[in-house]
Amino acid sequence: MSADAGSLGERVALVTGGSRGIGRAIAIELARCGARVVFAYRSNLEAAEQTQKRIQEIGGSAWAVRCDVADLAAVEELIASILREHGRLDIVVNNAGIARDQLIMRMKPEDFDAVLATNLRGTWNVCRACARPMLKARTGRIINLSSVVAGSGNAGQTNYSAAKAGVEALTRSLARELGSRGITVNAVAPGLIETDMTRELSPQRLEGLQAQIPLGRLGSIEDVARAVRFLASDDADYITGQVLRVSGGLG
Ligand code: NAP
Repeated sequence: MSADAGSLGERVALVTGGSRGIGRAIAIELARCGARVVFAYRSNLEAAEQTQKRIQEIGGSAWAVRCDVADLAAVEELIASILREHGRLDIVVNNAGIARDQLIMRMKPEDFDAVLATNLRGTWNVCRACARPMLKARTGRIINLSSVVAGSGNAGQTNYSAAKAGVEALTRSLARELGSRGITVNAVAPGLIETDMTRELSPQRLEGLQAQIPLGRLGSIEDVARAVRFLASDDADYITGQVLRVSGGLG
């Protein structure tokens, strides 16, 4: 077992979008380090059950809850149920996200709104709902998933890159609001990671993007999960309002 196992003690962590991809790896990593993990998913029950099973197999604790992060009332109920069940909430990872890529002339207004609703408003909803219990506890860790395109921009992603730039600005503002109460707020900005989201890219686009990565390979979901675990741990006590790129140098 690695030296990090157990480093999160009995802390309670919420990971949104934990049924698949990066969120699943984060949920597993936090559970491996001793956290009691609650993860939210939108609709894919089968994938959520797989994550839960993987965590139970390593002797961890996991609770899967269906919750659309774009729905503030549902998010408030989720946070309330975590507090009822576990009595505390120490770590929140805003990972749930979607992409609806298209060049602007072809992008439908609904695709712009859907991406903003999940990626930006969803992050804000969860931050708002978890702020009160964290302020009361005078401790907490909030980690928001951004993307390198927040800084670089990307053709075909006017909706997605705008949402992620918003997530980074939200992260910096909230870090200023909550810092005096011992709560840190940071973002992790992955580059190109192998998940369902990137499997939708054409082989030509993928090849072109891979050629721009200094480390020469796509990232793994575990690469991102380890960075999130670091920001959730005591080792990151004095880090807030930052964006940590996990991109192999891309961006
Ligand atoms: P993914 O494989 O497509 O998984 C998305 C996850 O989010 C699923 O668990 C999904 O639940 C959940 N989700 C989507 N909409 C939701 C909603 N409204 N409410 C609650 N849960 C919702 O995505 P991923 O590639 O792992 O990406 C995870 C995060 O990293 C996202 O924020 C993404 O923008 C960011 N990111 C990814 C990459 C990359 O290369 N993959 C790069 C940069 C940033 P269901 O299973 O129920 O659908």
